Amino acid sequence: MRPYILAETNWDKLKSDRFGLAVLPWGATEAHNYHLPYSTDNIESDMIAAESARLAWEKGAKVIVLPSIPFGVNTGQRDIYLDINLNPSTQSAILSDIIQVLNFQGIHKLLILNSHGGNEFRPIVRELGLKYPEMFISIANWYSALDKKLYFKNPGDHADEMETSLLLHLRPDLVLPIEKWGKGVERKNKIKAFSEGWIWSERKWSQITADTGIGNPEAASGDKGEKYFHDLTRKIGDLMYELCKADSEDMYE
Ligand SMILES: [Zn+2]
Repeated sequence: MRPYILAETNWDKLKSDRFGLAVLPWGATEAHNYHLPYSTDNIESDMIAAESARLAWEKGAKVIVLPSIPFGVNTGQRDIYLDINLNPSTQSAILSDIIQVLNFQGIHKLLILNSHGGNEFRPIVRELGLKYPEMFISIANWYSALDKKLYFKNPGDHADEMETSLLLHLRPDLVLPIEKWGKGVERKNKIKAFSEGWIWSERKWSQITADTGIGNPEAASGDKGEKYFHDLTRKIGDLMYELCKADSEDMYE
């Protein structure tokens, strides 16, 4: 029983315990190339949150990891079988309810640990920050915390070398053999400005990739996943510790 994982602890412990930081892992349920499970993003956010919280806890931070939210924004994948979508307005309602309880109970710091590129919490957090001024709400996309180029050969952003390596380390029992791995080839928009990044429109996922992946996973390995997971959880563990100890009324140098 890990005392920093809400789903595992109990009222006997919690009736007299108090926490400084709540962590909410948020994933998605969606196809990840042919070879990774639909729960890939949830496995990642759950296990990264748990290991980072363990490290922060051992340094003395009172952090509690909430059960993760398993569905994300998948509006661009409605024609991909059993990709489940939560609209941003639904995410806003879920976050609002969770923050109302945290605020009432005096847990005034929240870290959303996000696994999925389609989840965009910033406008929601701005709005909830206005409603709950005592709450310090932060969002971390764990996949942006480290320079992936230092760990992986091939770039990508979905079911790529990085995600395949992580799953080979975390849940090898759920990864299909290498013969099944698609190449994750992405079809770019014909209009160049999209590649330059200063114009955005939602990608129609089934039109930009045949196997649902973006990024070639072929160079993935469990060893790469282990090293990346190790460095990532140390960095996020330090962040959790810092957030826990910080005075949210006095954040700036
Ligand atoms: Zn993913």
